Amino acid sequence: MEKTSGYAGCELWVDLARKTVTKHPLRKDLRGCIGGAGYAVRCILEHQPARPDPFHPESLLLFATGPLTDSRVPGGGSLEICCTSPLTGAWGESRMGCDAGITLRKAGVDVLVVTGAAAEPCVLFLDDGKVSFLSGAALLGKTTLEKERLVAEMVEDPSLLVLSIGPAGENLVRFASVMHRHRAAGRIGLGAVMGAKKLLALAVRGTGIVPLADSEAFRETARRVHQKVLQHPMAKEFRRAGTMGGYAWSDASGDLPTKNWRSNSWGKGEAIFRHFMEENLVASRGCYRGCTLQCGRRVAVASGPFATPEHDGGEYESVAAFTAFVTNENVDAAVHASWLCNELGVDTISAGGAAAFLMECAERGMSLPEDARSLGLAWGNGAALAPLVRKIAFREGVGDLVADGVCRAAERLGRPEALAWAVAGKGLEGPAHDPRGGKVLALTYGTNPRGMCHIHPVEAKAWDGDKLDFGLRRFGLPDPEGISPWQERGKGLAARLLQDAGTLPEILCTCKFYMYAGVTLDDYAAMLAAATGWDVSGEELLETGERIFTLQRLFNRREGFAAGDDALHPRVRAMPEFGRYADDPRCAVADYEEMLREYYAARGWDPETGIPEAETLRRLTLPSDLTGA
Ligand code: SF4
Repeated sequence: MEKTSGYAGCELWVDLARKTVTKHPLRKDLRGCIGGAGYAVRCILEHQPARPDPFHPESLLLFATGPLTDSRVPGGGSLEICCTSPLTGAWGESRMGCDAGITLRKAGVDVLVVTGAAAEPCVLFLDDGKVSFLSGAALLGKTTLEKERLVAEMVEDPSLLVLSIGPAGENLVRFASVMHRHRAAGRIGLGAVMGAKKLLALAVRGTGIVPLADSEAFRETARRVHQKVLQHPMAKEFRRAGTMGGYAWSDASGDLPTKNWRSNSWGKGEAIFRHFMEENLVASRGCYRGCTLQCGRRVAVASGPFATPEHDGGEYESVAAFTAFVTNENVDAAVHASWLCNELGVDTISAGGAAAFLMECAERGMSLPEDARSLGLAWGNGAALAPLVRKIAFREGVGDLVADGVCRAAERLGRPEALAWAVAGKGLEGPAHDPRGGKVLALTYGTNPRGMCHIHPVEAKAWDGDKLDFGLRRFGLPDPEGISPWQERGKGLAARLLQDAGTLPEILCTCKFYMYAGVTLDDYAAMLAAATGWDVSGEELLETGERIFTLQRLFNRREGFAAGDDALHPRVRAMPEFGRYADDPRCAVADYEEMLREYYAARGWDPETGIPEAETLRRLTLPSDLTGA
């Protein structure tokens, strides 16, 4: 098989129904899509018919690495898992921070494509070059950590890398996650796609070496970039407080969606953060061997009704989802609910969004399944959260109502007003940042291919709200110091550049937090050049980001999404009902339609339809037949 430096050189197809394994060389257009989510969108567009049922056996599930998936690269412990999202029907990708991607490459595989559905629950075991189909019968109904332990016992290797799904994935909860040691590939329902394929776990063991164009230059460049990161002021902060370090600031700056988005501030941020740091935080930890930032948290609840064993968790998004979203001031209850999500394989953000939706339904007298009353689904009741998570994972009663997402739940309730409480974008429940505290976020929420997600849209918020420029000013990004977070006009180009650059970690397979700690496109280009031998620049990488972002847009168009799906949920645009900014008219997103027009123009997309213009496609060397025109 032909080898390209920086790659293991193999796209491995596994058909679970036929138990067949086929090795393919990597794509010929490798440099144009590189790896990770970039490689995956190309592959899915080519091999999967339009508008599939994501639970259909022939739908594709990809585990993709990139040439920087390497423990020496800052943030290099990343694996991208991609599919059509069963929650949204749109493009689905999720990064998992772990050693599995690195090991997959050592096992000789850059991209694993899983198709078909097994007849019986199964476990896929990639052992260097060999693939085995193991029985998953003993795993049914077990938690994610139990599954990881059982698979390691099956192959008698306690250090085996195992990704698994929980009962939520088995029960096709549309926001079920894929888990590894309580780290999640979440949001878009990857766990449910694994569940539909009866694939309960994926185990990887690899001992090979991936060839590099210039090993010495690669090692030296990665070391230099690590040194730079360690001297960056953000590095210390990531390690000290993790992502929770932003909680109080989000609250103060109008960035914290509260009470199902009825406000963008809560006033409890300091107290929540203090409790978390003093009572729940045990230690910082990297999600893969080699992470120097170590934003990962080891957390626990020592005693009381929410006693919780030490585990990886306590991220800003998860804590916010189980506190501010539902106005729960009991941080222990939030940590406990988040832990249970990890055990059962449920996405924490969507679960918190579902809890907030149900609490609003209950408050407004909506008729809910019988068990909703006994759960005590009322604002501020932290005790209701973990039982609700369990009901979601096992699709019981009110949990079953929301297990397909809040938008479908609102439709099932059959009352139009419920849609006004289902806060989502493209069907994805909103995360814990609020455009009423930084307006460019409205654009990046609206136009992100995954929907209202907490990954790519947030660079924009960091630019106009937190004044970070990610080293992108030399590529045309306006100086954030001259920009007001409240301003709406003139942010289209910035949104585009920040999205294109923010897509790159998902393509290169690195952790994006390293961009917050000083890693620039030129740094990525230098490491990529040493790995592959390509004469690649920051400019080329930025264009690759744009190409992949555009391809994901075209994928969504093929799946039936149109300009109307870039709309922002009305509640996210409206004045806050209470809180610090309730009387500040600057908060409301007044003219989103004009913001969108500026953005489409900056992208070279049609001003009405939002479809990439022919000239844009030519510039990005993309075929015109993908527009459906
Ligand atoms: S910074 Fe955080 S998310 Fe990124 S690799 Fe390290 S622990 Fe994982």
